Amino acid sequence: MKMRAAVLYGKEDVRLEEVPLPAAGAGEVLVKIQAALTCGTDLKVFRAGSHARMIRPPALFGHEFAGVIEAVGPGVSGWHPGMRVVAANSAPCGDCFYCRKEQPNLCQDLLFVNGAYAEYLRLPARVVQKNLLEIPADLPFQAAAFTEPLACVLRGIQAARPGPGETAVILGSGPVGLMFAQLAAKAGARVILLGKGPRRLRIAGSCGADTVLNLADLKDPVSAAREATPEGRGADLVIEAVGRPAAWGQALEIVRPGGRVLLFGGCPAGTQVPLDAGRVHYDELTLLSVFHHTPAAIRQSLRLIAGGEIRTEPLITGQAPLKELPSILRQMLADQDSIKTAITP
Ligand SMILES: [Zn+2]
Ligand SMILES: [Zn+2]
Repeated sequence: MKMRAAVLYGKEDVRLEEVPLPAAGAGEVLVKIQAALTCGTDLKVFRAGSHARMIRPPALFGHEFAGVIEAVGPGVSGWHPGMRVVAANSAPCGDCFYCRKEQPNLCQDLLFVNGAYAEYLRLPARVVQKNLLEIPADLPFQAAAFTEPLACVLRGIQAARPGPGETAVILGSGPVGLMFAQLAAKAGARVILLGKGPRRLRIAGSCGADTVLNLADLKDPVSAAREATPEGRGADLVIEAVGRPAAWGQALEIVRPGGRVLLFGGCPAGTQVPLDAGRVHYDELTLLSVFHHTPAAIRQSLRLIAGGEIRTEPLITGQAPLKELPSILRQMLADQDSIKTAITP
């Protein structure tokens, strides 16, 4: 038995191939994919050809998905074919130092799953045990597929704690920046978002941003962002959702004395960012960073989505069949204005 799947071979090289249909082994579950979302991380991996922690080519590709259980392996209880499900793209081991310290996102043996851009995806036993969730009957698959990225954002919000009356500057108009905008606005903060792409910036307004600044129009984004804060003092909270050293640097300049900076976007290992040590100390800055998600965040994320507390539909700017994935990824790299595309096998 064969299935169609996207296989990552290297830099900007993804091919649709017929590969063996995986069988569900002991403890495993086979999911028929109904929606897989493109993600900034996938774009990064597509551009770079690999990711040190998550994926080494040649490999099946894609990690945000929802679907229907097709088969369950021996020893699986509580799950049966036909159930509508979503799963995280990883699962912690449960007994390393970090797992015991309740920091399972830092698990030393985090098991990653890739292969959502395919007709079927086999979930390893550990993911079935820790990070497989049933989704409500009325929740569209493409909304449920936001469970993983939103879980990462939720951990960021829990670290940064935007509050009523605060001014939050968000750097980045991708899906992550737009999810942060929604949640910060919901928490009562006034949101100033800096980004680019006319469509993304239009959507930012409907995602809770009170002020939207287009980087394409700004010579000095730091001054423009500061000027948009009360008395030009700087932001109470800056959330960096770009993943480039320049944006990390800007975040540290836009925050007010006594403020908080959430450095959310991952830069390649070894990246150095200049730090004004005087500013950090004498202005008493709080620097925060979060990575990935936890089983608790995954559950909370699905609850928010199912409860309609976050709007996912404006963040899906396209739909495409699996065979178009390579051209969609190339186009997303080029235009930088789409948000997420829902890929359906
Ligand atoms: Zn993702
Ligand atoms: Zn662990």
